[in-house]
Amino acid sequence: MNYIDMHCDTLMQAFLLRKDDIYTIEKTMADVKRMLAGGTEAQFFAIFMPPMSFRKKMGEGIPADDEYIRILREILWHTLEVHSDALAWAGSFADLEKNRIAGKCSAFLTIEDGRPVDGKMEKLEEYYNMGVRLISLTWNEQNCFGFPNSVDPEIMAAGLTAFGKEAVMRMNEMGMLVDVSHLSDGGFWDVVQICKSPFVASHSNCRALSPHTRNLTDEMICALADHGGVAGINFGPEFLHQDTSRKDSTVEAIIAQVRHMMSVGGEECVAIGTDFDGVTGTFEVGSPDRMNILFDALKKAGFHER
Ligand SMILES: [Zn+2]
Repeated sequence: MNYIDMHCDTLMQAFLLRKDDIYTIEKTMADVKRMLAGGTEAQFFAIFMPPMSFRKKMGEGIPADDEYIRILREILWHTLEVHSDALAWAGSFADLEKNRIAGKCSAFLTIEDGRPVDGKMEKLEEYYNMGVRLISLTWNEQNCFGFPNSVDPEIMAAGLTAFGKEAVMRMNEMGMLVDVSHLSDGGFWDVVQICKSPFVASHSNCRALSPHTRNLTDEMICALADHGGVAGINFGPEFLHQDTSRKDSTVEAIIAQVRHMMSVGGEECVAIGTDFDGVTGTFEVGSPDRMNILFDALKKAGFHER
């Protein structure tokens, strides 16, 4: 079965492994070869912006934001060039269709954490011109867009900044997807108010089943669906279970998430956002070439292909 995956962190892993081609990489959860084997029709490749606290952990010199973005984009662009028979950049639905007809997997480029936008509207256009078509407004820290998800109720309730609100409107005009994954609840509801186009939660699950603050409440799922948006089911163990300390990602838990999201938001709002190469634990479906295990189980559970 063909599918779209709205989030992976494979570019960051390639960067850490000093690879300039992601067609085949060992020691990662995903690469293009395994994506093709698994039926990926489109993959959203995130440029995850490491926060200062990660920089130490990630070791040797992570360059300044714009240089880091340039390097990760270059890894994808180099891969697109060398494997142009199998993979092509997409910047729109029309591109996705064109690539699909040509038998190619579409590669969308995204930025996870709007921090590098740095409160400057012209940076949005710069990233758009570099091929970026989705920005996750925040990661887990405050930035020029607003506040992140948090166990601190005050932070969780905080909304978008004045710049964040304006930037969301500008992203709508440009045709750049607004991603609320990682955002505070307050920020989410601001996006609902402001966004004229469908927005997405590229890799977030249901808080009713797993109380992680990264997940969406039923009210949020309804609002997202009413806006024509989608939420990508995240395979990371910490987002799947009632017990957020569990380290196992199971097909059963993923199906429970699909079932709940569909019952709350309808079948049009359920998407896939695996978070491959951004999550850790033990996985029943831990790479794209194992997606058939999930699809077979979904069929057995009564879901049809559509
Ligand atoms: Zn993430």
